[in-house]
Amino acid sequence: MEAMRNALDASDNAIVMSDSDRRVVYVNAGFTRLFGYPSADVLGKRLSETLFDARAEPGILDHIRTTLSSEGKARVETLLYGQTGQPRWVSMVINSSDAGAGGTGGTIAVLTDITLTKMHEVLQKRVLEGMVNELPLPDLMILVCKEVERIAPEVTASILAVDDSGYLRPLAAPGLTPEICEKINGVRIGPNTGSCGTAAYRGQPVVTTDMATDPLWDDYRALFASTGFKACWSSPIKDRRGKVIGTFAFYFRENREPGVLHRRLVDVGLHLCALAIERAAAAARIHQLAFFDALTGLPNRSMLRSSAVRALSSLRQDNLPGALLFINLDRFKQVNETLGHAAGDALLWEVATRLTQALRARDLIGRLSGDEFALLLCDCATGDAVQIAQRILDDLARPVLLPGQEYMAQASVGIAMYPEDGTTIDNLLRHADQAMNQAKSEQRHSLQLFSPEMNRRAQERARLERDLRHALAEGSLTLHYQPQVLSTSPRTLHGVEALARWNHPERGAVPPGEFIPVAEEAGLIHELTLWVLEEACSQLNTWRAAGKNVPTVAINLSGRSFHHPEFAQQISDTLQRHHLHPGDLMLEITESVMMDARPETRANIAALHSRGFKLSLDDFGTGYSSLSYLHRLPIAELKLDMAFVRDLTTSPTARALTVSVLSIAHSLEMVVVAEGVETPGQQQWLQAHGCPVMQGYLFGRPMPAHEIEAWLDAAGHSGR
Ligand code: C2E
Ligand code: CA
Ligand code: CA
Repeated sequence: MEAMRNALDASDNAIVMSDSDRRVVYVNAGFTRLFGYPSADVLGKRLSETLFDARAEPGILDHIRTTLSSEGKARVETLLYGQTGQPRWVSMVINSSDAGAGGTGGTIAVLTDITLTKMHEVLQKRVLEGMVNELPLPDLMILVCKEVERIAPEVTASILAVDDSGYLRPLAAPGLTPEICEKINGVRIGPNTGSCGTAAYRGQPVVTTDMATDPLWDDYRALFASTGFKACWSSPIKDRRGKVIGTFAFYFRENREPGVLHRRLVDVGLHLCALAIERAAAAARIHQLAFFDALTGLPNRSMLRSSAVRALSSLRQDNLPGALLFINLDRFKQVNETLGHAAGDALLWEVATRLTQALRARDLIGRLSGDEFALLLCDCATGDAVQIAQRILDDLARPVLLPGQEYMAQASVGIAMYPEDGTTIDNLLRHADQAMNQAKSEQRHSLQLFSPEMNRRAQERARLERDLRHALAEGSLTLHYQPQVLSTSPRTLHGVEALARWNHPERGAVPPGEFIPVAEEAGLIHELTLWVLEEACSQLNTWRAAGKNVPTVAINLSGRSFHHPEFAQQISDTLQRHHLHPGDLMLEITESVMMDARPETRANIAALHSRGFKLSLDDFGTGYSSLSYLHRLPIAELKLDMAFVRDLTTSPTARALTVSVLSIAHSLEMVVVAEGVETPGQQQWLQAHGCPVMQGYLFGRPMPAHEIEAWLDAAGHSGR
């Protein structure tokens, strides 16, 4: 019996035997070790008077009793508090001691301390749940501290973050005073900065068993003097790459080292803190990516909008004016194209810096897109807004050193005033944008205040765009054809140029000079071009079938169509559908297409050329291409712009230029078509100087297809 008793006492488990009246008849030494109660304190009493007191899990004893009576055996895991108030997680197995023996009706309970594993589980579960519920980082960290302090009441816990520059930032320290936290905030980690700053600096835990004497605490002793803490143990929190991102510290009110339980808590805590801090950093990074422009670091459009909504509502409350400045760089595309994207990026970055410097504390800034920026100036009246805008223009014009060259940025600024020009950020942005466009079209590097007139024009334009879309969809555009004649025989047709016509239901004829640019900007031009192609081919086929000899139809092609990789194929397909040949069309392109280096454009031009299509260079002389360029491109025809033709009789320069164009074209075997010939004088001069083809009101206006037929009949021949 004695041997048996010794064996039971040596066990780490607590063993409790009770009689049928549930009074304790025996506890082993393990029970006292685990819960602190000497056997004398529990013997003869029920466990509900000691161990299972008010702090125990409600209903747990009833649960054990019912399970015991039905199954003869019960097993539970629960938290119990020992005599000193120390909580213990135990796994408890209870057997009826009469099981099978017909004995006393008592019970034997074996309790195993599972605190270490259990508290680990509980802490982890709570914190992970907090993360799933997206608790903010400080709340999560407070949860960790409180949970640790609940499990180990002798501990006061604190969690500090270490920022990228190596400064301490308190995250949670529910047991420290706000004054202490304030003082800790911004302390730089170092070799002698209390337990935490030093632990972060060393990347190693620091145990201070006596804060009163440890030299690490020299600078912080006074701060902690009134806390009663005597010992501190701080461990660095590290991210997955091993970088220190925080510290996790335990303060004790006695001079001591951490115990096993503490070490286990820290193991779990460090892991959870690292997870939570890294997660918060990732969320912050995502926020940064979502709301800030990566290149300049400025808020992006959506961020600017949401801050502006708040700013405007406070302007409204305070009854103050504001100004929205819309800033667009002039010729930014050219910088990118000629100096390269690195230079473009450097320029944007510099512009962002200079704009930011123009701001006052309440103002907002954002990068809306590419080379567009917006500033919202708060408490700023019109006069001040104009002054600030002018200062910005001056400031931007200071030279910027870009890779490879010095550059002077120019910009156009539009200004819309709050509240006169708009009370919502969207209206202000739209109106400032309109004013900016006005500035850009009138004079570059200038500023413009919004006016309601601009808004009317913009609305007008929007209406035109909507109607044009409609006209294209319902097929209410038409084509007119203008004769091109041989200068040696003005009644012989060289070809006709197809020109689009739009008869607007309310406004009447809208000139192509108005609706073609709208189609370009609205992204409708390619559709329009395909329609023109289809219509012109169908018409040419009809003429051919009727024996009307129209040698070629010239079609105006927009540069944008050449960005569609399938464009050359679309032209071929249309042609084939109408049983025509590449030689039946003359494709008019502008100099900008000729200079366009985009691979799609180059590929389309090469494909058209190899399939035998003839290209004509429209409006020659108005663009920037040089004559020396011409021989490198498969151009069959030059159309001398009407500006030259108009000036022929009055300007010697126009005459000299025309003569050289004619001779170069002649040597390159290109046909020259003079456009806009209106007078016999022009005709004679051109004919005398060897210009082979002419087009103009003198020979025929653009006209509907049936009038072309009449023109041919009147000319008394059927083409050449
Ligand atoms: P463009 O290609 O230079 O077309 C020639 C323009 O000069 C036409 O104006 C024509 O009516 C006009 N014109 C012809 N002879 C004379 C003349 O003796 N004197 C004067 N003062 N003008 C003359 P329109 O039809 O108003 O077209 C203007 C521009 O619109 C065209 O200039 C062309 O760039 C564009 N356009 C017209 N139709 C189309 C089209 O189907 N597609 C594309 N992409 N652009 C088109
Ligand atoms: Ca043309
Ligand atoms: Ca032209």
